[in-house]
Amino acid sequence: MKRPTTLLALLLPCVARALLGAELLPQETRQGAEAVRDRALQESRAFEWVQRLTDEVGPRLAGSAGDRAAGPWGKALLESLGFVNVHLEPVPVKVWERGTESGEIVSPFPQQLVLTALGGSVATPEEGLEAEVVAVESLEALAALAKASPDACRGKIVFFNRKMERGETMNGYGDVVPIRGRGASRAAAAGAVGVLIRSVGTDSNRLPHTGAMDYEKDLPRIPAAALAVPDADLLARLVARGKPVRVRFRLTCGDRPDAVSANVVGEVRGRERPEEIVVVSGHLDSWDLGTGAIDDAAGCGIAIEAARLIGASSRRPKRTVRVVLYANEENGLAGGQTYAAAHQAEMPRHVAAFEADSGGGAPLGFSWNAGPAAAATVAEIVRLLEPLHAAKARNGGAGGADVSPLLKSGIPLFGLTQDSSAYFDYHHTANDTLDKVDRKSLDRATAALAALVYAVADLPEALPLIPKAQRSRRD
Ligand SMILES: [Zn+2]
Repeated sequence: MKRPTTLLALLLPCVARALLGAELLPQETRQGAEAVRDRALQESRAFEWVQRLTDEVGPRLAGSAGDRAAGPWGKALLESLGFVNVHLEPVPVKVWERGTESGEIVSPFPQQLVLTALGGSVATPEEGLEAEVVAVESLEALAALAKASPDACRGKIVFFNRKMERGETMNGYGDVVPIRGRGASRAAAAGAVGVLIRSVGTDSNRLPHTGAMDYEKDLPRIPAAALAVPDADLLARLVARGKPVRVRFRLTCGDRPDAVSANVVGEVRGRERPEEIVVVSGHLDSWDLGTGAIDDAAGCGIAIEAARLIGASSRRPKRTVRVVLYANEENGLAGGQTYAAAHQAEMPRHVAAFEADSGGGAPLGFSWNAGPAAAATVAEIVRLLEPLHAAKARNGGAGGADVSPLLKSGIPLFGLTQDSSAYFDYHHTANDTLDKVDRKSLDRATAALAALVYAVADLPEALPLIPKAQRSRRD
């Protein structure tokens, strides 16, 4: 595979236009990309794939019955749509099961609390866990409290009450999600016996948001759950009165025996360089509370349909477009890691990887990580999205969680950016269902991804690898 040499790569952005004119994105490539983009707006079937996955399979947490059904479902769909080399690739997964969950304020004013276990949490004792609540706003505030008053959290339930800000981008999520991931172990280090967090979400429904958490080695594993936002507000008001507040909660969740899930793979063969691969992906698994419509049946639908339209185009791109529907993104990332490991030998033939994992919102643009020499090409490609009002290219990021393991091989990574302003009202809740997916927005996102993937798969030269110094970047 031809990638530009370093010196040429460095000079390329400056001299490219003068020397090569439109050769960065030849006219036929541009026209081919525009054609799939416009066709997606006319006849996208993305919504149909989202509907079928959520209706026919439902929730798909790794190791569950839905997860076992999802792989064969994806394989059958890709085969029926005419993809080639369709197969399942086994993915060993850790299994966690929710069980039952309940909670209440014991005193001063007995009330039911709506909560849900965080993924990975241990169970409480049979009879539940009861203790006084200590409220903090952040991991930093907890550390400061424990330092100032080492017994402040001892034997208590730490309640992290940090509000998530609504926004068009995912930034608000990034600000809050470390509390969900690390809060339990940080609280355990301060002597706490349990953790409750305010749901990581922007809604005010009485529906809690689950999500992954991890335990640090060598610290007690304490149960952790998320309160629905109104319940977090209630608890915060009572704690603010300054008198002791006691809460009890009961979880029966826990780890179960390991299982084998699967990544689903299918291809549209390239016209001239079929051995070179552009990955377009979403993740097939979901949390267990809803049917995973926005997270990430939507991304799967967008990826499948973008590739299908490219396959149906009258001028297929030079390179092979490979659809990958990853297993186990939500609570392990085993699908992405297994793919990167299993395909190590053909990694040099990977030209780029795209992921759609931001719901079904309208496209805003894309993030890219391909090293500075790709900037001139990206500037040409982004123009394809102008008619969709989605011509924002952000340099950075790692494409998406599932493609991020390809970063260490330097594969150029792209993430579709979508309007996420309503996404966190439903994300990881029982409310993540098909009715939250807007067909028009989904079709526009599909059009954007189809154009981007087509253009990259048909470039005269492969994009340069990500420079070594940038290969650990996860912003
Ligand atoms: Zn997701």
